[in-house]
Amino acid sequence: IRLAPQRAILELPDHLISQIAAGEVVERPASVVKELLENALDAGATTITLRLSEGGKSLIDISDNGCGIAANELSLAVTRHATSKVRSLDELEHVESMGFRGEALASIASVSHMRLTSRNDAAEHAMCIDNLNGTWQTRAAAGEVGTRIEVSHLYFNTPARRKFLKTDATELSHCVEYFTRAALANPHCAFTLTHNDKTLEQYLATDWQHRIKDVLGKNLPEHAIWVHHTSGELQLIGMICPPDVARARADIQYAYINQRFVRDKVVNHAIRTAYADVLHHARFPAYVLFLDCPAQGVDVNVHPAKTEVRFRESGAIHQFIANSLKKSLAQTASSRVQLGEV
Ligand code: ADP
Ligand code: MG
Repeated sequence: IRLAPQRAILELPDHLISQIAAGEVVERPASVVKELLENALDAGATTITLRLSEGGKSLIDISDNGCGIAANELSLAVTRHATSKVRSLDELEHVESMGFRGEALASIASVSHMRLTSRNDAAEHAMCIDNLNGTWQTRAAAGEVGTRIEVSHLYFNTPARRKFLKTDATELSHCVEYFTRAALANPHCAFTLTHNDKTLEQYLATDWQHRIKDVLGKNLPEHAIWVHHTSGELQLIGMICPPDVARARADIQYAYINQRFVRDKVVNHAIRTAYADVLHHARFPAYVLFLDCPAQGVDVNVHPAKTEVRFRESGAIHQFIANSLKKSLAQTASSRVQLGEV
């Protein structure tokens, strides 16, 4: 549409602001899965069940046993820029929760039908809020302490977006990827994933090494190298593969900063540096790496999806990761020579 340039300036209605934000936050069903998993984890859940139908296109239904939401705050939870996680700039700079922007639920709800059922431990019963009739309605409901969010008919009111959805199998694979990322980083939490009523994955609560084994299963590299390094306030733990079993595809590459999955140039470059002398350039190392550093040393407020971060001292981080991994690779190489394996 071409409009007259002299049209008056008007403030956007709230609902349209959420739909515009949804363009960034809710790219596809998997983005909804990511936001809802993060909310459940932020709520301290130790059990999360995710049910999907038709690749998440027709239903994303997630239940957690986290802290729940107070009955009188249900409508705030779905209000844009309303959050329990950040109160000040200082808190933002030290934020340890996955969320803090207070826009995921409002954005998702603006392009779907959403029902939120929740109960905190002070409440005698659960409460439920839904927008199935176009406006939010609240009522009493049955439910244990925790939260359940059902998102159906994604993009029912934004047909342009709906057209970009791929096949069920493709959308499902993206959802599974986000589920896997969350499961790897939160071994203390039990996870279940079902699709069209069929159980796809089930992980019991455990420690991080067992979780990596449970998740990667037969894809766990032969002779996986377990990594554990610390330097001052920095810690790097996880699993990397010996160069000789590196993969033809970059399909098992999980890097986390403070439990948040990231795609970060500094981290990726540091890993490549560690492998530079030992790996054929067309092969890709498998790795699952968790970097812990002080929250104020990393800025996660770069992009709404928060997979990009900025380090205050990227040089020190790069050096720590590269040196740690080089050490692990060298130690393993020499011990395998002694054992006569290589
Ligand atoms: P954010 O996570 O950035 O705060 P959201 O829109 O994702 O924003 O959620 C808004 C608020 O709703 C959260 O701050 C939290 O208080 C509450 N909330 C959302 N999901 C859950 C959940 N699964 N359990 C408990 N509280 C939740
Ligand atoms: Mg959130």
